Amino acid sequence: MRALVVSDIHGNLQALEAVLAAAGEVDAVWNLGDTVGYGGNPNEVIALIRPLATVNVRGNHDRVCCGLTSSQGFNPVAAEAAKWTNRALTPENLEWLREMPKGPVLASERAMCAHGSPLHEDHYIVSMRDAWTPLQRMETEITFFGHTHVQGSFSQREHEWEEDRPQYSETHSGQQASIEVPVGTRHLVNPGSVGQPRDGDWRAGFAIYDDVLERITFWRVPYDVEGAQEAIRNAALPERLAGWLAVGR
Ligand code: ZN
Repeated sequence: MRALVVSDIHGNLQALEAVLAAAGEVDAVWNLGDTVGYGGNPNEVIALIRPLATVNVRGNHDRVCCGLTSSQGFNPVAAEAAKWTNRALTPENLEWLREMPKGPVLASERAMCAHGSPLHEDHYIVSMRDAWTPLQRMETEITFFGHTHVQGSFSQREHEWEEDRPQYSETHSGQQASIEVPVGTRHLVNPGSVGQPRDGDWRAGFAIYDDVLERITFWRVPYDVEGAQEAIRNAALPERLAGWLAVGR
C-alpha cells in the first residue's frame, strides 16, 4: 500500500493541486488536519480533499474555523483568517469540520495519524526532547503528525535516537528524500505542510508511506504561489499571509 500523507493544507488550493498531481496514483490519502485557515480557498480545498481522504483528523485551526473552540490564543492574523474562513465556509463544510475526529486515529496496522502529538492534539513536536515520550508511549510504531509545518522525522532504532531533516536529491518527479522504517523501529513523521511551509522552503511538502517497501519518502514540489497569493488578496485576508507563502515562513 502507498499512502499519500498530507497536513496543514490551510486553504491553499494551488498547493494541494500540485501535491496531488505529483503524488500520482496512491491507495490511500491521510489528512492530518488544519485543512482550512489562512488560505483563500477553504471550500475548494475541502471539495478536493474530502472525497480522496481515507483518514482525516482535525487541527486547531479547523476547530476554530468551524466554531468548536474560540480563537483565544491565536495571533491576530490567525484569528482574523479564522473569522473570515468561518463566514466563507458553506454550512455543509462547517458540519464536515465539526464532525472530524480528534487524533490519534489508527490508519493502518503500523501507523496512526495525529495533528499535534499522539499524546495531545495541540502539542507541538519540535525537537527530540518533545518527541522522546510520545515515541515510547504511542500505540503504533509510526505516528504521522503535523502542526509545526516543518518536514522531518524523529526515530528510535533500538538504543539509537535520531532526528532527521530531509536532505533532498533530484528525481524525475521532483526533489525527494527517504527514510527506512523496518518493523521493530519507531518513528514520528511530519510530512511537512502542503499550504504554508515554515521551514524556509516555499515549496509544498508531503510524504508517501510505502508499507511494503517499509519506506517513507518526503517530497517538495513547486506550486502556483502567485495564484494562492491572489486568492488571499481577493478574500481581503491580511497581506502578511500572502507574503509568508513566498518565503516559506
Ligand atoms: Zn497548521
